[in-house]
Amino acid sequence: MQPIIHLLSDETINQIAAGEVIESPASVIKELIENALDAEAKKITIEILGGGLKMIRIQDDGKGMHREDALLCIKRHATSKIREAQDLFHVLTKGFRGEALAAIASISQMTISTALEGEVGTVLEIERGEILKISRQARGRGTTIEVNSLFYNVPARKKFQKSGAALSAEIFRIVTLMALSHPEVNFELISNRNKTIQTCAKEGSFQEKIHYRSEEMLGKDFIGGSLPLAFEEGPLRFYGLLGAPSNCRTNKMGQYLFINRRAVHCPPLAEAIGTGYATRMEEKKYPIFLLHLSIPTDLIDVNVHPQKLQVRLRKEDFLREKIALATQLALQKQEVSFFLKVKEGVSFTPMHVEWGALPHRLQESPLLVEQDLSLESGEEVVGVYRHFLFVHRDHLLVVDLKAARFRLLFEDLLKKMGSSIEKQGLLIPFIVHLTPIETAMILTHQETIEECGFTLRPIGKDAFMVEAIPPFIEESDTKFILTDMAHALQDFIGKLDYKEERRKKLAMTVAGFARAKSLFTKEEAKQLFGQLRKCAISTHCPKGHPTMVLLSDDAIQDFFRADQKTATVSSC
Ligand code: ADP
Ligand code: MG
Repeated sequence: MQPIIHLLSDETINQIAAGEVIESPASVIKELIENALDAEAKKITIEILGGGLKMIRIQDDGKGMHREDALLCIKRHATSKIREAQDLFHVLTKGFRGEALAAIASISQMTISTALEGEVGTVLEIERGEILKISRQARGRGTTIEVNSLFYNVPARKKFQKSGAALSAEIFRIVTLMALSHPEVNFELISNRNKTIQTCAKEGSFQEKIHYRSEEMLGKDFIGGSLPLAFEEGPLRFYGLLGAPSNCRTNKMGQYLFINRRAVHCPPLAEAIGTGYATRMEEKKYPIFLLHLSIPTDLIDVNVHPQKLQVRLRKEDFLREKIALATQLALQKQEVSFFLKVKEGVSFTPMHVEWGALPHRLQESPLLVEQDLSLESGEEVVGVYRHFLFVHRDHLLVVDLKAARFRLLFEDLLKKMGSSIEKQGLLIPFIVHLTPIETAMILTHQETIEECGFTLRPIGKDAFMVEAIPPFIEESDTKFILTDMAHALQDFIGKLDYKEERRKKLAMTVAGFARAKSLFTKEEAKQLFGQLRKCAISTHCPKGHPTMVLLSDDAIQDFFRADQKTATVSSC
């Protein structure tokens, strides 16, 4: 009988592998840039035509290849980067599978030109993975790989490629990520003969290089008001920039995470950064950041995705904790919510100002301290207008006293919940009526609600006798607070492990009602400001709105200048 099982040809095997590694021209570019980086290139030029389908040329000034190596490099499983499986646990190079060149060569017409320092170069012309011609060429150190007619022999894949413009956009993104992950290397992208990216690496520390490259690639808006993050602990090194809380977005587009110089998609770690922002950020918003994590290779497994876009973490909780802590420490350096600086018609830019060293405030610090809470030296209260306090110190600081009070009560409640919470017993208890679902929620979580300062006694159907309330809320608000709490608690239906989150939600609801107070004497305002500064997070109310804004002298002056230019003067 004729056997029905047969071995696949090398060409077919390579094409199947190509399907996994090479999805689009952007994946070719990613692989070729990675090879150039592994070869320690300092300058990489990428040229494309027709979104990369027509032509991709990548030139690097890396160490190049010897003729023998060049002949081997397009063979499947040919690599200079690992020797045995054991090495996979300590991969420091971008590549290690030895399949990219073989895969690309099998689905394109490829030319490789390469030379070691001071040697004559080798040129290979390859089609369907077969070397058609080998020649010698005088050239400088480095490698140039040209890929023509990508997917020409896999029409099914070619059919599913996006338009030239969409492919170019994808390539732009890949090169951007590469440039951000390697701020010491220069990149140039030329698409249809137009230069679309050109970087100019600067000397300096890694942190300075990251800062400069981010500005080059992502623009001033991205880094405007951002705070530097630098965290070192044992073998962990985290460096990068955190966007100002006022610069948060409704999507995750502005999040750039690199692990050991590899751009990765790693939601748990990105979330940990959000955890570090805590209540500085409005709900359902995402911070923007660019963060380089350098972590020991044995804590991550990079061999889980054909294109190495994902990593598997060992000790994920430990890393999340450290990232959240690093974020928190970096954000603590922010003293005011933002700094309004206006110059030459430029719009308001949130800026980070540092007013000298701050005490470490990781733990929530006591709020109602007995000591004198007068202003710091050099500060002077200008006055109180509505619920705003104006303080002069170098510039004009405006404090939103309602937001400040909200923050104070929130932190105070969180600290005292369950132990030393103050309750105000009512001389005349009163009844509140709720809906059946609200009642169910209150009954389920009654203990925690009482930890916030209430004493409730269920009476009859869907009604509670209120016997005590927190001292800072109005009796007349009680029903609204209980209903709001009941609604907030519905978010936890079906959730596990929500204790901490529930405490925050309830404290936020109760403290939120304190915002109603809108009249403050100068003395009260001063006290509040002093206490605010001692909060764990003083720059934002618990819902993520600013508490303090600094107005530069220029900004104030510019209001008037802008006025002269645009306003029509009406005579009276
Ligand atoms: P991998 O990167 O996983 O080793 P590749 O197929 O991408 O596999 O590359 C095969 C080998 O070819 C590499 O290990 C490297 O030795 C060599 N190589 C590829 N590109 C370059 C380059 N630009 N400069 C120097 N050597 C290269
Ligand atoms: Mg490679």
